[in-house]
Amino acid sequence: MQTEAGEMAASQPVSVLITGANRGLGLEMVKQMVEGPNPAKKLFACCRDPDGSRAAALQTLAKKHPNIICVVRLDATDLCSIKQAAQQVGSLLGTGGLNLLINNAGFLAKATLQDTTPEDMQGSFNTNVMGPMNIIKEFLPHLRTAAKASEVPGMSSSKAAVISISSFLGSFESVKHSYSFIPAVSYRISKAGLNMLTLCAAEELKKDGILFSVLHPGWVRTDMGGEEGEIDAPESVQGMLSVMASLTEKQNGAFLDYKGNTIAW
Ligand code: NDP
Repeated sequence: MQTEAGEMAASQPVSVLITGANRGLGLEMVKQMVEGPNPAKKLFACCRDPDGSRAAALQTLAKKHPNIICVVRLDATDLCSIKQAAQQVGSLLGTGGLNLLINNAGFLAKATLQDTTPEDMQGSFNTNVMGPMNIIKEFLPHLRTAAKASEVPGMSSSKAAVISISSFLGSFESVKHSYSFIPAVSYRISKAGLNMLTLCAAEELKKDGILFSVLHPGWVRTDMGGEEGEIDAPESVQGMLSVMASLTEKQNGAFLDYKGNTIAW
């Protein structure tokens, strides 16, 4: 694949971690990453209840690919479980570290400002901002190992990267034309927070060679997106994986959609 600048895009990541991997976009990412033409060697598929019925589809997929998929318990709102997951993943990673971390788990409350409850705001903030922040901090040693182990110059998602799944609803620019349609105040605030977290991380950690970007998956027909969404999960994920594979240091701190278009902050 050629990037905008004409450089050859990097190869696929060897090790990948995805949060919220038991359904929706997360599960589809796992599917495409293990069943595509150039599968990851090790894929840590995280979910908050690996033994529960909501993880049944993921467990079935993991049984089909036992050498690649490792199901890991991780609740984005629980620092203890994040620390345990980082330890478990660290013990299974080789000297190559963790190449790609995808913060996908998300929480949506659709209420207007007047209807938003403290629980909506707390839930959105804990899952969509605090979760990714704690996950980035706890997995940083594994990402640093990957960046150091690579002999390829520059940045890429196959070397060391954190991609967080945000939303155009977190864009300040989008509010005027989308608010009446989807208010989702707590979600918008939290995704704007996730965007800022990403920009701060991109700035602070560029010296370590770790790339940070946020992606908008499109309006997708999942439990969260609803039946009236514009695209299906396979199309969204195919687009996002292709965008991820094309990222270089030029997109460190970028906000892109699943087609690779830049979204205004
Ligand atoms: P779904 O509602 O289908 O799936 C959400 C996933 O997040 C589930 O796996 C869920 O796990 C997991 N999750 C929620 N809370 C936590 C938590 N505390 N810890 C760990 N996992 C958790 O949503 P989508 O697949 O559609 O969304 C994926 C991402 O894409 C989200 O970040 C969302 O904000 C974003 N997005 C989606 C859009 C859409 O149209 N679908 C549009 C824009 C952005 P569990 O089964 O345990 O609840």
